[in-house]
Amino acid sequence: MNKERKLIIAGNWKMNKTVGEATDLIEALKRELGTQTEVDVVVCPPFTALNAVSAILKDSRIRLGAQNMSEQGYGAFTGEITAGMLRDLLVHYVILGHSERREYHKEFDVLVNAKAKAALAAGLKPIVCVGETLAQREDGQTDKIVGDQIAGSLAGLDNNQLKDMVIAYEPVWAIGTGKTASTEQAQEMHAFIRGKIAKSHGEDVAKAIRIQYGGSVKPANARELLSLPDVDGALVGGASLEVRSFTEIITNTLN
Ligand code: PEP
Repeated sequence: MNKERKLIIAGNWKMNKTVGEATDLIEALKRELGTQTEVDVVVCPPFTALNAVSAILKDSRIRLGAQNMSEQGYGAFTGEITAGMLRDLLVHYVILGHSERREYHKEFDVLVNAKAKAALAAGLKPIVCVGETLAQREDGQTDKIVGDQIAGSLAGLDNNQLKDMVIAYEPVWAIGTGKTASTEQAQEMHAFIRGKIAKSHGEDVAKAIRIQYGGSVKPANARELLSLPDVDGALVGGASLEVRSFTEIITNTLN
């Protein structure tokens, strides 16, 4: 697929996979995808499996991501994980502000912004998630909600920092529901986000930053979504838990 920006496809395993299950999955993915270079492939296992998956990925092109981290550098924050701890395990990416974190853990833009700054300072590339709920879309609030999430999450970050980041547009009503945004809806929102970034950080940054789509991406719809001009990849939940479906999402986009 001919794209202006290199596609980045990430699997968010969420709270799934024991170490043994994660090992089986990543060994199979490495056999299928470990040497291709056309698409950037990232897997985001739960914290408990990062070490095992990292060891298996050492001689592979697949990159490791985490699903969350603390904005704090160290200290008395029971249950939290720092960016430095993730780097120590050779993690490259970290998902921040996923809608499940926003909804169940009350993580809002100020916190997402602090986490993004801590991640970048440690050399991690944040994947910052934004997206509206169904009620917000039906109420005509989509641009306002997503625009505010972008402005708040990226506040105070400079152009070089932004070029190292990935944005994931994930309409909340499409996550884990089997409903996917139409190609028109996805392209419209991706172009809107890129336009917002052009205004805040300039055209060069807006042209360089990669914006993933997330929400029930499957082998059957991946190629159509990923061929849209402003869609530069996918953040995949459910379909990233199986070797076949995740591999097919990627191979379906290859030339
Ligand atoms: C996600 O959680 O980021 C996601 C997109 O999930 P799913 O693909 O299962 O909708």
